[in-house]
This record gives sequence, C-alpha cells and structure tokens, in this order.
Amino acid sequence: MAQTLIADPYSGYTSVEQIRLQNKIYVCIHESGSDIGWGEGHLAGINIGAYSKGVPYSVNQLIVHELVHSMQYALSAGIEGLSLPRWFSEGQAVYLSGQNRAAASQHTEYDPTKVINFFDEYGDPGIAYKHYGLAYQYVQEANGIANIKAMMNKVKTDKQVPVFPSVTQLENANYIKAFDALMVDINKKPLTVEQYRTNYHSYLNDFASK
Ligand SMILES: [Zn+2]
Repeated sequence: MAQTLIADPYSGYTSVEQIRLQNKIYVCIHESGSDIGWGEGHLAGINIGAYSKGVPYSVNQLIVHELVHSMQYALSAGIEGLSLPRWFSEGQAVYLSGQNRAAASQHTEYDPTKVINFFDEYGDPGIAYKHYGLAYQYVQEANGIANIKAMMNKVKTDKQVPVFPSVTQLENANYIKAFDALMVDINKKPLTVEQYRTNYHSYLNDFASK
C-alpha cells in the first residue's frame, strides 16, 4: 500500500513516514463501485460508498469496521501485505464494530479458522462474517484487547520469518510466530494457530458451555 502510494505521482506522498497514521485518517466517499455499502480500509484511510449511491446498511458500523482494517494495517502490515488471516482481520472488524456475530452455541455452522485467504471463504458470506466475529470474540475474551494489539504489532516488528515451501503452513509465518508466542485459550493455556485451526470446535464447545 505505502509503496503504491509513493509510486503514484498524484498521491502527494514521497516517503513511508508521510503515510504513517498521525492523528489523521483519510476518508474517501466514492460514487463508483457496484455494491451498495461497499467499504474498504487501508493504511492511509477508508473508502465508503457515497450516500447518493444508496444508503449503506448500518453505515456507522461499516465506518468503524473499515477503521479497524486501517488500524490492522498500521499495527501488522509488512511489505507483503496485511499478514493476518482473513477470519482474524474480518472477525476483529465485525466484533469491534458491533456487527452481527454468531452465538457460541451456533459454532458448528461454519469453520472460520480454516479461512486464511479470500479464496478459502465458502458458503453465504453473511454467515461466514458472523462466524469470523465469533472466532475473534473467543480470542479477545481469552486474551484481552491489549494482548491482542501486542500480538498484532509483533507480527510487524519481529524479524521476518523466512517462508519455506510447506503444505501445512497456511498462515503468514510471522503471524504464526506472534500468535503462538502470546495467545492463550479461555482456560489460560497456550493456544497456537494450528490448534485453533484444527480443534476450533472443541474450543468453542468449551466456550459455549461457560
Ligand atoms: Zn472487512
């Protein structure tokens, strides 16, 4: 994102420092794009569909949702992009903006922690997003927002872990390292990316029964 803006002669940016968030955020209200209520969060700000295009559903929640994505870029993004799996980035945006999320008792409806990239998403996107929110809720209730922020920032500030070709390594290597080092489950036992992906429904069974 930063490099794209620097390379764009119309952006007005000439260095990465100028693009870092400093008590300001750019909001782009656009008339183009096809989806009503479509939004997008980036390092420098957010895009929201213009009011004149059709009133987006729960626009206040949508704005907060996109601002959460902007903060994710500021905290975690490396040169290769956001570095967070899709269920986490969307789940955090859903949860923190107060958008609808699935109840713990509904966890068997979906496998959110298997959705690492956009192309992993399956089924009704509305259902998928509710379950990303639930999967994130578990992690936040087990760890607290301060520890999650520390984990997200560690993804960016740690020395980058070299990525070796591997069929089992689906998530970004630095994200795995940070998550495995800092996250715990609801019983305060260490929680790894692999455990949360593979045994998601046992963690949620436990969560639902509390
Ligand atoms: Zn989103």
